[in-house]
Amino acid sequence: MDKCALITGITGQDGSYLAEYLLDLGYQVVGMIRRTSLNKMDRIDHIKDQIEIASGDLNDQGSITNIINEYLPDEIYNLAAQSFVHASWKAPITTGDFTGLGAARVLEAARVLQDKKKFKIYQASSSEMFGKVREVPQNEDTPFYPRSPYGVAKVYAYWISVNYRESYDMFVANGIMYNHESPRRGIEFVTKKITDGVAQIVAGKKEKLTLGNLDVERDWGYSKDYVETMHTMLQRDIPEDFVICTGETRSIREFCDTAFSLVDLDYQKYVETDPRFMRPAEVYSLLGDPTKAREKLDWKPKTSFVDLVKIMLKEDLYVHCTDPDLEEQLGDRYPWLWDMK
Ligand code: NAP
Repeated sequence: MDKCALITGITGQDGSYLAEYLLDLGYQVVGMIRRTSLNKMDRIDHIKDQIEIASGDLNDQGSITNIINEYLPDEIYNLAAQSFVHASWKAPITTGDFTGLGAARVLEAARVLQDKKKFKIYQASSSEMFGKVREVPQNEDTPFYPRSPYGVAKVYAYWISVNYRESYDMFVANGIMYNHESPRRGIEFVTKKITDGVAQIVAGKKEKLTLGNLDVERDWGYSKDYVETMHTMLQRDIPEDFVICTGETRSIREFCDTAFSLVDLDYQKYVETDPRFMRPAEVYSLLGDPTKAREKLDWKPKTSFVDLVKIMLKEDLYVHCTDPDLEEQLGDRYPWLWDMK
């Protein structure tokens, strides 16, 4: 196969897994990276010799157009965004610019070049667009009600994608993805904060873990599973939008309970809450309906909730438990570690 894929946001969680997946399929992978990211390459350090780095910024129309013109990729995955919901209240304008208008810039660059190539474009849409949910579970027809500047920006990106598809006969598909996590999740996100905190408590480096609202519920999956379906969505003949989720929801409290229990600790003794970590407008519960993706994309998440917590916790335990005696004992203390690949 000699297909070429351009990934914006390749230094992020999903971008790094997607790059690995596409390289395995034989793709030429081009990653658009802003100059300030050049010292944030840890997620793709192991594959940097196999990918092409193109310098660009979602803020800069010319840079995006030049990259697409130079490589004429078969597939464009627009994953770059200011992706942290909490930060979007602190920087609502930048979030609107990167996360919302950034998508329009990618589409516009592809539109002006579409005489040279019929690009297939994936837009990273989000369950946060459902926000104050209008129905449970949410599907592709559920109306949006975003509850953060991030969610609002994603709604703009979603609709501008639909509009370019319908107005210019372009292949553009939205993946409305529910939360997906991994050991590569940024430390500011709650799941990573929990597994990192548990590992630090086991290592004796921390005594307490401070979080926001523990009763918030999310439909959580594994990033590696989710990036595969981004690719599947672009292999179809007709572009469509899909909700990608597990169809199960769990609270942050349940995530804590699972992670602490795996190291034989009671989360209630270690977790405290602080209103500073709560959102000004909360999204209390998100639960997706994966029926359409199951029927048309053969979508099925491969990783269970407990396995996801184990995958993340294992990584953090080995990062933080560096004392040689403790490191050696980890497998005996927590036998589930032996069972993991
Ligand atoms: P992430 O780890 O935060 O990665 C975001 C990426 O965007 C990073 O590579 C970042 O580069 C890049 N970026 C930010 N601003 C940019 C700009 N102005 N120009 C170029 N690149 C820029 O996010 P993720 O978890 O991989 O998520 C990927 C996409 O899926 C995002 O759009 C996110 O909103 C969306 N999404 C994620 C989830 C989820 O649960 N993970 C769910 C639904 C939707 P730096 O390295 O420079 O920061």
